Amino acid sequence: MIALVNPKSANWGFRVPNSLLTLGAFLEGRYDYTIIDENLGVNAVNGLAKLIQNGVKYIGITVMPALQLRGAYAISKEIKTRFPDVKIIWGGYFPSMHPNTVLKSPYIDFVLKGHAEYSFIELLDSLEGKPGAKALNQIAGLSFKHDGVISHNQKAEPIDPDLIPRLPYHKVDVDKYLNFGKTYLGPRTIGYHSSVGCPFLCGFCAVAGIYKGKWLGRSAELTASDIIFLKEKYNIGAVEFHDNNFFVAEKRVYDFAKAVNGLGIGWWGEARPDTVMKFSDDTWQIMAEAGCKMIFYGAETSNDELLKLMHKGGTQNAQTLLDLAEKSKKYGIVPELSFVLGNPTDNVTRDIETDLKFIKKIKAINPAAEIVIYTYSPVNFEDSEMSLAAKLKGFDYPKSLEEWVSPKWQNFDLRKNPLTPWLKPHHFKIIRNFEKTLNAYYPTNSDLKIRGWKRSLLQLMGSWRYKTDFYTAPYEIMLTQKLLKYRQPEIEGFAQS
Ligand code: SF4
Repeated sequence: MIALVNPKSANWGFRVPNSLLTLGAFLEGRYDYTIIDENLGVNAVNGLAKLIQNGVKYIGITVMPALQLRGAYAISKEIKTRFPDVKIIWGGYFPSMHPNTVLKSPYIDFVLKGHAEYSFIELLDSLEGKPGAKALNQIAGLSFKHDGVISHNQKAEPIDPDLIPRLPYHKVDVDKYLNFGKTYLGPRTIGYHSSVGCPFLCGFCAVAGIYKGKWLGRSAELTASDIIFLKEKYNIGAVEFHDNNFFVAEKRVYDFAKAVNGLGIGWWGEARPDTVMKFSDDTWQIMAEAGCKMIFYGAETSNDELLKLMHKGGTQNAQTLLDLAEKSKKYGIVPELSFVLGNPTDNVTRDIETDLKFIKKIKAINPAAEIVIYTYSPVNFEDSEMSLAAKLKGFDYPKSLEEWVSPKWQNFDLRKNPLTPWLKPHHFKIIRNFEKTLNAYYPTNSDLKIRGWKRSLLQLMGSWRYKTDFYTAPYEIMLTQKLLKYRQPEIEGFAQS
């Protein structure tokens, strides 16, 4: 039997572990496996110790940065120390971006990069010595070490999502994930992946670093049939499409929306502003009718020159964002616009202030628009100008897992606290003070608890500051937000409850 582990990744509002279920879909009928999800409150180390005593030899761990990385490291260290013969295999975003750092650790044996579901099976076949199994150096997407030397095989091509069988939901207690209360999208929200990658090559984006401009989508028909199945079997009320770019192909979106129209589910996904601005009015209309309530967009910046440095590609510019705010308002689909501030430019303060003014323009057009402000964190994307500029300005990554899990680096990939040398404390102050004021004057609609007098109170507190552009030391707002338990959707997600 194989154990697949999802280390704790969120304190609340977590979703079914889709990456492990996808791996499970390929293991079905080949190897026995079980899924351990720490998000459900189980202790992975205790569970694994019991499984190992019953014969488990291989442990696959999915690893995102920050909280999940810390958990994955702790689990691997404990298990490898107690059971040195057990093979520990890391996959997911973090090891895909930092395979050398991961394999330098004595607690991890293998890294599988990208979508390596077939490679996982080939690795198991090889380790089990099955007849005809590939040698380690022939397995695509695998990084491994031999006599202390780390080797990286050629990358594994993403799997056509149409070839992925329906996920083995019976392997997890789906109800436990759905019973987290109502979200802005509706009750019983599930996460779903309908595509992999993205056709663009934005120089600040890890997706571009991993997929290098490749995008593959599950057909509208299969996607809709899965959603209908989930509605019938688990009575889902809402779907978060966790695709990197759900809205790449207009026809797929149109056909999907038509197929689920009338099901009564709310849905959310990520898009590029310039792509959806090219969609026809018919497509916007059917999206709205079929329950698309909110779309997350990478707005990045209002500075068109900076967009070029970012290699944003496509036709996006500041005007696209203003037009998008207008169009979204017309169709009642909330735009969730994420800006990346604090880029490595020649005048960081000026660029931040310009974007903050632009955000106010967006809000004036569409007050329902949700604004997410991130600070630029370099991604390990060697061939991007942004990455090079960051290195020239003195940024570098930790060289060991121990350093990655140290308090200093814990929040790095939340893009709220990057350790970039050109961002000074006063830059953070400008951004955070503006954010506090913005969130007071325009409390998010997605926090279902902030309604009525609470909303009016916040707006009153933020009003004079917002109107006079005076954001310094907004202590009264911070105190009120604390008392009202104002959730920070810009950190926790707007679609969450
Ligand atoms: S469009 Fe979005 S997902 Fe695609 S590369 Fe650019 S930032 Fe990444």
